[in-house]
Amino acid sequence: MNIILLAPPAAGKGTQAELLESKYHLNHISTGELLRKSASREDDFGKKMRDLLESGELVSDEIIFEVLNKHLETCENQNLLLDGFPRNIYQAERLEEMLKEKNDKLDFVFFLDVPKETLKRRITGRRMCQKCGSAYNVNIDSLKPKVDSICDKCQGTLYQRNDDNEESFEIRYQEYLDKTSALITYYQDKQILYRIQSDKSKEEVFQELCGVIEKGMKK
Ligand code: AMP
Repeated sequence: MNIILLAPPAAGKGTQAELLESKYHLNHISTGELLRKSASREDDFGKKMRDLLESGELVSDEIIFEVLNKHLETCENQNLLLDGFPRNIYQAERLEEMLKEKNDKLDFVFFLDVPKETLKRRITGRRMCQKCGSAYNVNIDSLKPKVDSICDKCQGTLYQRNDDNEESFEIRYQEYLDKTSALITYYQDKQILYRIQSDKSKEEVFQELCGVIEKGMKK
């Protein structure tokens, strides 16, 4: 089973990916998380990545495929749950070729639909775990960590992403409109797009996602 989570910034891709990963034993791959790992390197490449990510603009396709292919080589589980990839039509076409080469295909593309004003409110409260990448939100009661600044799952330290500020958000949202949102029609035409209204609790969104998957698996 291969799934894509498609959404504007801070729509909850990472949160839903964690829940789906454990329920369906998928291989959760977040290209943003792979890039943030590269950005923590103390060399010129790390510094370049930090600047790029902070700017809010999309990273070049060349860098994305380099990082992604390198990561895929290390993965045994080939049931992919792609979070934040593809982000444009070119990446989507390349992904399709990659899957075809393995006689594989995409099963579900979930579009997590959240209004811009809600995203803006969420972005400043988001905190990430330095160790396991789990996401929390200090502005939303149900998403707060049990202990301040500590991850519930692995006790790692929580931090605020450099691009989780209003200025970077505006650029990231514009990038989403200009480049990523075209994927909605692209996958609609292929009849694998499922629009999930996602300005609800994480449990409600998760239930809807599972409903679609269970129905699809019975076909
Ligand atoms: P995310 O964690 O998905 O919000 O991604 C954080 C940042 O990483 C984005 O704002 C982009 O700069 C970059 N990024 C992540 N995935 C991609 C991708 N597939 N293509 C281009 N840039 C990406």
